[in-house]
Formats: sequence, structure tokens, C-alpha cells
Amino acid sequence: MHAPLRLRLDSAALVHNWRTLGQRSGPAACGAAVKANGYGLGAREVVGRLVEAGCRDFFVATWAEAEAVADIAPAVSVLHGLREEDLPQARRWPHIRPVLNTPVQIARWRDSGGGPCDVMVDTGMNRLGVRWDAPTALFEGLEIHTLLSHLACADEDHPLNAEQHARFAEVAARVPAKRTSLANSAGIFLGQEFRFDLTRPGLALYGGVPCPAAEGVIRQVVHPEAQVLQRRRMRAGETAGYNATYVAQADQELAVLNIGYADGYGRGFSDTGTVFAGDVACPVRGRVSMDLLIVDVTGADVAEGDWLSIDYALPRASAASGRSQYELLTGLGRRFDRVWR
Ligand SMILES: *Cc1c(COP(=O)(O)O)cnc(C)c1O
Repeated sequence: MHAPLRLRLDSAALVHNWRTLGQRSGPAACGAAVKANGYGLGAREVVGRLVEAGCRDFFVATWAEAEAVADIAPAVSVLHGLREEDLPQARRWPHIRPVLNTPVQIARWRDSGGGPCDVMVDTGMNRLGVRWDAPTALFEGLEIHTLLSHLACADEDHPLNAEQHARFAEVAARVPAKRTSLANSAGIFLGQEFRFDLTRPGLALYGGVPCPAAEGVIRQVVHPEAQVLQRRRMRAGETAGYNATYVAQADQELAVLNIGYADGYGRGFSDTGTVFAGDVACPVRGRVSMDLLIVDVTGADVAEGDWLSIDYALPRASAASGRSQYELLTGLGRRFDRVWR
């Protein structure tokens, strides 16, 4: 059965974005962050396509997310580390490594037998990771595959970028590891000194534009489309939608679409979102409902049953809705048919 709501997902654009980010990574390898179910697209579908394109290193948040791709990903790093209850999982797959974030996790990994692991160093974000000024002795005896840190402000010109870089370079020089990794999507565009051995883009793979330097080189991957459930005429002076916030200045034609905030198309798009009927831009009228959306199709050739495309170019949709590009992707709901081509 087909839902009246679908995501068209562009495999070629996904692969293009990964290759572009790989080129920008220079000699560093380019991995992929596929946490949060591949930023809402579907982790298995993303991993399969990127493996085929040559990607070898994948990043997830939790062991459940690792398990979901364990059979198709060559190597997976689990960013949220190693709780006591994760040990059985962590010991099960040699190609899935914990990213150790705390002295407790480091001790837990060592005491449970050690082996290849990753380590996250916090260089100034004060989120996950061992502090950069931790004594070298803390890491002794670890078999560190990838030593990581994460940038707090890579998407802006901020003095913390240089500080984090310097701190990470200092740690990387004294803590033995096979590889080092600092840059997320935006970090790749900060300059070649941020590349280290491995980059870890997420957002930009999926069409997000994290910084001005990425404009024009990243392609849109996600195209939501919703079906028209009803076409109707609205008279001048009448109102549309909940709380009657939209008042028609003139007669107009409306289409009611099968999409709403329960699908991730948030209330921030009320009166600001755009939908396309072919080339005709149709503005959202009134409030976004839970399951429905009203758009103005005056002058467009639109009938009940037609599919309209929701404008979801991420920088533009983010500006229209006030939500981050990350939220726009990861909020995409479960009622979409996810259709790859
Ligand atoms: C999410 C995440 C990434 C990817 O970040 P983007 O900004 O989406 O490119 C990389 N590294 C870590 C540690 C992350 O949590």
C-alpha cells in the first residue's frame, strides 16, 4: 500500500556529496555519520550506497544503531561509548568499535579485555570526551584505532576552531593512535590543517549546506512530496486553517495536502513554507496542522490526487521555518514512503 506522502531520495546526489566531501578531504579518508537512522533517510539504505561508492568508516550514536548496519558496514564507531550494559554487544563484532569518552569507559574496555577502540578527546566543547589536558598515562595500554575530537563552531568563523585544532594536534602528538579525526561536514571546509587522517561528515552528505563555502557544491538529496486530498475555492474575506490566522484578500484556489507537523513539517512553516506544482510556487496558507497542509494553488494546474513537491532545499527551508537543517532532516517522520532512485 502506498502512503499519500513520500520522500524521494536521490542516490546519485548522496554519492556525489560523499565524493565531493572526499575530494575536499584531500589525502584524508572520508567517512560518514549515519546516526539517527542516517539523519532520517534510513541508515541501511545510506550505508549500502556509500559502501558501494567506497566509504569504509561509519559513525553511529548507539549500539542499537550499530547493530542495524553491522552486516553491511565495513567498520563502525559508536560515538556514545561503552556503558556496562553495552559490553556483550561491544565484544560481539570486531569491526564495530566503541568510542571511549570517559576514564570509566577506558577502564571498562581495558578490564574487559581491550582490543581496538576509538577515543574521543574533548578539546573545548565540554560535551563528550576525555579532556585534552588529561595525562598521557590515562591512555596507556589502549589499542587506539582512531583518536577523535569534535568541533563546536566549525560552521562559523570562531576563535575556538583554532584553539580546538591546536589542542587536538598536541594530544595527537603524544597519544599513540593509528588515525586521527577532527572534521565534521563544516570542518572539512575550514582548511586542510583540519583534515587529519579521517573526516566524518553527516549533514552535508544529506544535502545540508553547513557553511557558505559549501554552497553550490552540495546537492539536495531529500525531496518530500505530498498528495493533494482536496482542491477548493476560498472566497475573499474567508479564513484558512486553525485559529483563522490567514485571511484571504481575494478569491483563491487552495489545495489541501497530506503532510503536517507529525511528519516533521513543523509549525514554523505556517504562512512561510512553499510547495511546488511543477514550476509554480504555491505558498503555505495559515497554520500547519498535524496531518494536513493548506497551500495556495491559484493559477496552477492542480487536481485531487496530484503530487506536489515540498520546498525542502535545506538552507531555504531552515530560513523559512526557523529550524536547523539537522532538525529538518532528523525530524522527517515515519509516515513517508522512502523511495530511493
Ligand atoms: C554528528 C557528528 C558528526 C557529523 O557532523 P555533521 O555536522 O552532521 O557533519 C561528526 N562527528 C561527531 C562526533 C558527531 O557527533
